Amino acid sequence: MVLNFLTDIFRRGPRQREVLPSASVKRVATKQKKSATPSLNLNLRIIPREKHNISRKNISSGALRVLYRLNEAGYQAFLVGGAVRDLLLDGHPKDFDIATDATPEQVKSLFRNCRLIGRRFRLAHVMFGPEVIEVATFRGLSDDGTGDRHIVDGRLIRDNVYGGIDEDAIRRDFTVNALYYDIADFSVRDYTGGFEDLTRRELRLIGDPEQRYREDPVRMLRAVRLSAKLGFTIAPDAQAPFATLGALLAEAPPARLFDETLKLFLAGHGLASFRRLDETGLLQEIFPLTAKSLVRSGEDNLRNLIEGALKNTDARVREGKSVTPAFLFATLLWGAVRAMAQRAVTAGTDPGVAWQNASDRVIAEQVARVAIPRRFSITVQEIWALQPRFEQRSRKRVFRLLTHPRFRAAYDFLVLRAVESPQIKELAQWWTDALALPEHELAERLGVNSLAPPPLASTVDDGPKKKRPRRRRAKRPAIADGAPTPPDADNE
Ligand code: ATP
Ligand code: MG
Repeated sequence: MVLNFLTDIFRRGPRQREVLPSASVKRVATKQKKSATPSLNLNLRIIPREKHNISRKNISSGALRVLYRLNEAGYQAFLVGGAVRDLLLDGHPKDFDIATDATPEQVKSLFRNCRLIGRRFRLAHVMFGPEVIEVATFRGLSDDGTGDRHIVDGRLIRDNVYGGIDEDAIRRDFTVNALYYDIADFSVRDYTGGFEDLTRRELRLIGDPEQRYREDPVRMLRAVRLSAKLGFTIAPDAQAPFATLGALLAEAPPARLFDETLKLFLAGHGLASFRRLDETGLLQEIFPLTAKSLVRSGEDNLRNLIEGALKNTDARVREGKSVTPAFLFATLLWGAVRAMAQRAVTAGTDPGVAWQNASDRVIAEQVARVAIPRRFSITVQEIWALQPRFEQRSRKRVFRLLTHPRFRAAYDFLVLRAVESPQIKELAQWWTDALALPEHELAERLGVNSLAPPPLASTVDDGPKKKRPRRRRAKRPAIADGAPTPPDADNE
């Protein structure tokens, strides 16, 4: 089994062979030999300190302390993964992962502030206040016959075998994610050609792309996410299998896809992720309803709405503001819920019932792919359910809506919907004007029995940008959970 796996990893086309010319497997073990580990002969390239730009001052003090202590205790200690990649790109890593030849228990014995986690693969977490440094023992590729490593139908089921640094390197996903910063001499070790790929700004899978995606289909989403985050291209042979293997994402655990969705959309590069998912056809695999509603004719406004929301979200992330998954899902699934409800209304269903049913069905269909925790899906449904209520502008209804706990998120959503039609734009403007009024003034203008939408804008706008006293709303923030808001709305 292992032999197959290794052969598969190194089954390369001509392009890959160029980069890893001498990649070969010196395999002496068989499944029966218990202690056998494969020894790899990779093309190790060591980039000395003076040939790269990683400076210790950009590495967190916690990570440095762990690296040094491991090293002083006689173990190998490397910074690895996204941190090395981002440091080489002059970026600021959001977390620092460490790889070592010390076992988790040995790591634990060196640090008081350490706990071991994970059943499938034990990891050490070393805590420095809010910072958690993850320390992983080099992972191996070997199957010693006891079932430590299982590949069923080409998919990785269980692995808890330790290995050497070379094995650890080739089980990673992209070459640019398999670079090791050595605390012993501050050099960078490159076993898979990642350093060169980094300069070419290309994401290349380690091993045979098809095999690696079959093992773990989420790697396709990681390719899209990293290409969006870093502005890298995906190597043609890494992108080609999306068309045939994208469907495997349907079998990925929905909870994992939820985490991946947040990383795609709420980490500051949501717009780029969305566009790349759409271009590569993977949107269809994780948000089938969204993809379908986008191709429906005349849905340009939906694309604008989604892109507008993601642009706001990216801006909020850059400014360090909070963002909420609920608003994201409300946006991505809006086209589907709207179309479904409208179809039912046209067929004669009561609008309230039609919207409720559509909203339940859309959420149910989506959670089969991407698990949306209840606390978020409830908010998504509330945001949708409040949309028709913005049209009711009698005094009583306006004030009731203003105190709804999800008012703010629903209002922000209405503002986004302004791209849908001139009527919605006008409606959103009416509410924006209403929010700018002090409460007593709004009440006065709405009148006791006013049913027709009062022309707030014309009465409100009686001078160029005149500052008016701010009205305090009793319950401000549905926005408390951080809906991405249009900049104006946010400032008011
Ligand atoms: P980010 O900056 O978004 O954290 P990252 O590359 O650090 O990107 P992580 O999810 O933190 O992503 O993973 C850390 C490292 O673990 C990766 O750089 C990669 O080497 C390895 N890795 C993560 N997921 C996989 C996977 N599905 N298959 C193989 N290797 C993986
Ligand atoms: Mg990371």
